[in-house]
Amino acid sequence: MTAAQAEPSAPAVEPVSLGMELLADRVSLLVLRNIFRGSHRYQQFKDSLGVSHAVLTDRLRHLEAAGLIAPCQYSDRPPRFEYKLTPKGDAYWPVIVSLWRWEAIWIRDSTATLASVRHRECAKVILPWFGCTSCGEEVGLDSPLDVGVSNQTLFDSLSRTAHRYRRAGGPSLASFASTASDGVFTVLRDRWSGLIMLALVKGLTRFSEIQKHLGISPTLLSRRLDEMTALGVVEPVVVPGRAHRAFRMLDKGGDLRPALVLTHLWANEWSETGPRADMLLYHGDHQLQPAWFCDVCGMAIVRPSVDAEGIPDYDETRLAGLS
Ligand SMILES: [Zn+2]
Ligand SMILES: [Zn+2]
Repeated sequence: MTAAQAEPSAPAVEPVSLGMELLADRVSLLVLRNIFRGSHRYQQFKDSLGVSHAVLTDRLRHLEAAGLIAPCQYSDRPPRFEYKLTPKGDAYWPVIVSLWRWEAIWIRDSTATLASVRHRECAKVILPWFGCTSCGEEVGLDSPLDVGVSNQTLFDSLSRTAHRYRRAGGPSLASFASTASDGVFTVLRDRWSGLIMLALVKGLTRFSEIQKHLGISPTLLSRRLDEMTALGVVEPVVVPGRAHRAFRMLDKGGDLRPALVLTHLWANEWSETGPRADMLLYHGDHQLQPAWFCDVCGMAIVRPSVDAEGIPDYDETRLAGLS
């Protein structure tokens, strides 16, 4: 498509926006998770998620427009569709793994019922670890990861993303910010949460810096950081003699780093403008080749080699309040 043919009113979505918007959209994430577990039909989503017809239809349209799922008709009378993952949707699987793993580690609520994952190659129930296939090393919170652009360029991109949020509002997303009582969504409450965590991971620690770079309202930033503090995701840092507020990420927040990293790389690869070389991630002196590794046999795992078992879905009826 040439520039003249391009829609002037539809500016390309930056990778940061594409990734962070999806990571904050819990109904869409739960739909994707259901499809990865083998549910493909509207009624299955409806029964499992307990959201209204309006919300579910809106999110299915959104996922289709974003190119992650494609409807295919399985019945003529009445016309009924099921939803299949496109290659772009299929490539999102490692992010879903990162959210599941975080919950497996950090959700202590005994009423929560999480699926366990069995690796077919070794036939064991596993808890995968995040690593790099180039060097075989684990990628933890302290591992050096750099993007080809300067921090300032990345922050500018975050800021434009934040600006889009303020202007556009986004479909149905206002409803996600109010109640969050389940799993990873206690932390990923809205689109700001991911941006705040990215800013912390990239070394912004002061309240005033984060506020300035993201252009988020001080009241909302304060509320999100207070919630993250209460959840043990971040902690306030006292700087002697200084009046400013500062925060640092704790392990519970750091364990969401794979989700941020994988979201960033997925969004870069599948951005409508095509991948940008300067948005690739470097692990020390080489390009990061991210993968989940089996903690029992050590193999890098791929989707066809694992089965979720235990329960089909955890208690998603708690989402009913969203509709
Ligand atoms: Zn490496
Ligand atoms: Zn294994």
